[in-house]
Amino acid sequence: MTSTLSADELTRISDTVARSRARFESGVTRPLAWRRGQLTALARLLNEHEDALADALHTDLGKSRGEALLTELNVVHGEIAHTLRHLRRSARPRRAPLPLALAPASAKLVPEPLGVILIISPWNYPLQLLLSPLVGVIATGNTAVLKPSELAPATSAILARLLPEYLDADAVQVVEGAVDETTALLAERFDHIVYTGNGAVGRIVMRAAAEHLTPVTLELGGKSPVWFDDDARIDQAARRIAWAKFVNAGQTCVAPDYILTTPDRVDALAAALDRAVAEMWGADPRTGGDYGQIVNTRHFDRLLGYLGDGEIVSGGEHDRDARYLAPTIMRVPQPADPRAARTPETTPAILRDELFGPILPIVPVASFDDAIAYVNAGDKPLALYVFSGSAATREAWISRSSSGAVGIGVGLAHAGVPTLPFGGVGASGMGAYHGDASWRSFSHLKPVLKKPLSPDTLRFIQPPLTGIRAKMA
Ligand code: NAD
Repeated sequence: MTSTLSADELTRISDTVARSRARFESGVTRPLAWRRGQLTALARLLNEHEDALADALHTDLGKSRGEALLTELNVVHGEIAHTLRHLRRSARPRRAPLPLALAPASAKLVPEPLGVILIISPWNYPLQLLLSPLVGVIATGNTAVLKPSELAPATSAILARLLPEYLDADAVQVVEGAVDETTALLAERFDHIVYTGNGAVGRIVMRAAAEHLTPVTLELGGKSPVWFDDDARIDQAARRIAWAKFVNAGQTCVAPDYILTTPDRVDALAAALDRAVAEMWGADPRTGGDYGQIVNTRHFDRLLGYLGDGEIVSGGEHDRDARYLAPTIMRVPQPADPRAARTPETTPAILRDELFGPILPIVPVASFDDAIAYVNAGDKPLALYVFSGSAATREAWISRSSSGAVGIGVGLAHAGVPTLPFGGVGASGMGAYHGDASWRSFSHLKPVLKKPLSPDTLRFIQPPLTGIRAKMA
């Protein structure tokens, strides 16, 4: 693809990165006071512009104010508060034990900032997924170049305007734009790249990073399954599943993608989910005020394509002009062989693609063992949710499957907790951030070993080495 950027625009992008690097090299980001000041200023930005930020999220995604606060601003506030509380301890060198043979000596691991970090974020949580990694990047003493998603233009514009007003404008810079701007950024050398989005672009990012041997954190997606067998608490489970699925109109990377359960449970579960949707979003979610819209007509049309891949049990109402698709529960045929690879010849798209919208298929499987086999036959998901009355079943999911995270009796919540590393595994991503995980991802833990010159205990490992075996014994 040829770039539409002019020579001037390309130069501006190079200059942005150069300015960020010069700021890093000036050493200004090293003192904890600077980091604390920046994080406090970021919290102030969120407080002082809460209304305008919520409005931008509403413009981009139809998010209600409550949802914007709960799933975007509050998550970043929580991350800032946690990071500030632990800043001094996190930044302290960590003592490392040494073998007796090296005595007398001491060692420590010194967290050292990496340099300039590029953060590329997606449209679905356009504020949270740009600013949460930024909290870790600032706390660890790095500078940042941010590339918000062009598919959430109102949020991108307001953050591009406000961030330089509140933060060190050389240390934290925003490049707005789409593929061309991101491609130009990726040609530059960074010291780390955090990319959140789909796996196809994740591969492009990783290839570009390889040119400069730049490490990457890839926060990708996938089909996050739910296992349900908790008949005794079906209504509570359905409420939790429906909330996790239909918040942000299903456009959440860790949203339940589909539910696995045995055939005898499908009808009762579908009915319970339908009741839960009506309780939370009303009989007509379109008028309730708390239900979002699909990001654009391309995604809207993609989602409508899945409605033919099974039977709609409830929902399905849609309005293309309003980009509205009701919370939709579907029943799909039982997979013939749960262990088989899912190809276009054998498997409908609804069971192959990450749905990333308000469509929740219930997939019957003969047994719990088949359910585990079915999940393990696909890519490793970003999250896996278990609603089971059996402790043995819950433990079996943890030990016999692989996913970025597991939620037992709860969906989504782990993604907003600063003490839990947030990241995928396999096709759902690599690396993690939030809280201490950000310290590990955005710092180099530099070992420093110190040994006095006397007593000279190293003489015995220096030549002549005759009799070394006996000395080492
Ligand atoms: P998107 O289209 O907004 O793209 C993400 C970023 O990549 C944007 O900044 C965009 O400009 C850039 N980009 C797009 N095409 C590019 C290209 N060809 N070259 C370089 N850069 C390019 O968002 P999306 O990918 O549609 O987001 C949805 C996906 O993200 C889903 O798969 C979802 O599961 C995943 N996701 C993951 C997480 C997580 O934390 N793991 C969070 C949210 C979304």
